[in-house]
Amino acid sequence: MKIVRSKKELLEVLAEIEIGKTICFVPTMGALHEGHLSLVDIAKAKADIAIASIFVNSAQFAPHEDFDKYPRDEAADLKMLESRGADIVYLPRQEEMYPQGFDIKISTGDIGQQLEGITRPHFFDGIALVITKFFNQIKPDMAIFGEKDYQQLHVIRKLVDALDMDVTIIGGPIVREANGLAMSSRNRYLSDVQKEQSAALNKSLLQIKDSIIAGAAFDKAISSAKQYMLAQGFDSVDYIEIRHSQTLAPARDDDDINSLRIIATAYLNGVRLLDNIGF
Ligand code: AMP
Repeated sequence: MKIVRSKKELLEVLAEIEIGKTICFVPTMGALHEGHLSLVDIAKAKADIAIASIFVNSAQFAPHEDFDKYPRDEAADLKMLESRGADIVYLPRQEEMYPQGFDIKISTGDIGQQLEGITRPHFFDGIALVITKFFNQIKPDMAIFGEKDYQQLHVIRKLVDALDMDVTIIGGPIVREANGLAMSSRNRYLSDVQKEQSAALNKSLLQIKDSIIAGAAFDKAISSAKQYMLAQGFDSVDYIEIRHSQTLAPARDDDDINSLRIIATAYLNGVRLLDNIGF
């Protein structure tokens, strides 16, 4: 596994790749877990060369968010990537990605201001910026994003389409803990007791799904799930929404449920947890 830390080194290893070999890219912010590694497995299955990046992207954090304390464990990450057969790992330095005075922005438009974007208005623009830079630096044939961050996957597809980027975007299924909690680097912030409580997030989405299948109105199903989560120890529920899975347009009670996705974000002891499920 080749480890590269600058654009210059990246260019050198890319130049060594035989013409005609396909590259699949897996961007991450590190603190890796089985969710990330499952994407590396998919990358290896789909392409000749799997390139992962580890970069905590300052552009997607607001000043009051957890950029400084975001978990970083480079040695463990590299070991895991090596054991899963990643070919190249790219760990660019902040100063090289965003040199002093860097002020170029990308706007993801309306979709970037919905759901996650209401609480985190700069989040998707920051992601779009770093992904655009990575795509231009690596020039991958494909890139994989987890369905855990369902809106992110949608925004990236939209970005690639809107800016005519020649990269095929692949979605990877959500990898969960045994209790249903979607794996996330931020789960490291949870105590053992909170990890148990966190099961209520996925359970509540399954409850919503079951009650809607049984004929319940969307808003009734959502409000009882919210109450359940608060009773299970969540501090607050930022949102639970039912959206069309392909467009993320808001759903109505008479829509075909097979085309819908239930998307939620809630806080447990100040930790922001995301989840979503389809029907
Ligand atoms: P992050 O390091 O949180 O930026 O995530 C890097 C990539 O891994 C993103 O495409 C995430 O959607 C994906 N990912 C994170 N957690 C999971 C999970 N539990 N299952 C599948 N993909 C995941």
